[in-house]
Amino acid sequence: MKRVLFIDRDGTMILEQPPTYQIDSLEKVVFYPKVFKYLGKIAAELDYELVLVSNQDGLGTNSFPEDTFHPAHNHIINTFAGEGIVFVREHIDRSLPADNLPTRKPGIGMLQQYFNGDYDLANSYVIGDRITDVKLAQNLGAKAIWLNQDPTLGAAEVGAGSDLKNVVALESTDWAKIYEFLKIGLRTVSHDRTTKETDIHIELNLDGTGKADIQTGLGFFDHMLDQIARHGSIDMVVRAKGDLHIDEHHTIEDTGLALGEAFAMALADKKGMERYGFCLPMDDCLAQAAIDFGGRNWIVWDAEFKREKIGRCLRRCSSTSSSRSPTRRRPT
Ligand SMILES: [Mg+2]
Repeated sequence: MKRVLFIDRDGTMILEQPPTYQIDSLEKVVFYPKVFKYLGKIAAELDYELVLVSNQDGLGTNSFPEDTFHPAHNHIINTFAGEGIVFVREHIDRSLPADNLPTRKPGIGMLQQYFNGDYDLANSYVIGDRITDVKLAQNLGAKAIWLNQDPTLGAAEVGAGSDLKNVVALESTDWAKIYEFLKIGLRTVSHDRTTKETDIHIELNLDGTGKADIQTGLGFFDHMLDQIARHGSIDMVVRAKGDLHIDEHHTIEDTGLALGEAFAMALADKKGMERYGFCLPMDDCLAQAAIDFGGRNWIVWDAEFKREKIGRCLRRCSSTSSSRSPTRRRPT
């Protein structure tokens, strides 16, 4: 799934120009400090689609004729493109606040295509200077990076009672800090997977320190997942609520699926991964698992057990049975 940076223009890429806040001449185009260097690094190094989303009040009317807008806008876009910062799409709304149109930020009328399932909105960001950009992030189910120069800008369009505290992932007016935040955050994801049988929440930081907070309702499974975090230096939160009154298989299977999805999201384009890893045998056992991150999933299961399970039995289980059943399976 693709992750997106929905980037505001005025106050974010270029400076706002009060009192009109209308960029209708080249003289009014003043680029935001450090934006070329750090948005350029974001474009070159990080795996985000860049999308421009802008309200241009009354564009095309007598108060803001098109022929005053386009020379300045083209100059901005061409200058950014020259620095390797290319927007795959531009969404520009022309209405006024009083029109109250769904296409105007914080509305998402222009952005319906991002809900088609191809986009990882939960791990995408709106970067903007107005509270309406923060509200847009909330409406998209994304997070906000708020260049908060003036909290009153756009406040009237958000409305009272909007709780946006949890939407703001970073508040900074410094593009260097935005770059650092995104660079670290790229390999950090939050992922939810809900079915009729299970409700699973995962938080994953591939560049963590091995901290784990695992609650699946299955003690031994928690312990095994904890090993992944501890020995992989991965920070991991797992909350699984499953139909354990039936048995454990839905919870284990769906947690594995959700965790795999979270890893795939966190790895994104897999930049920086080595092609091959290594295996470290322990003193008292040898278990090998070769994991292919290339999407060619396959399992060969050939193991002998002296007892049915380890850990607390949810149902009556034998402690003497043995099983050895080679299994080959390609998950679908
Ligand atoms: Mg703005």
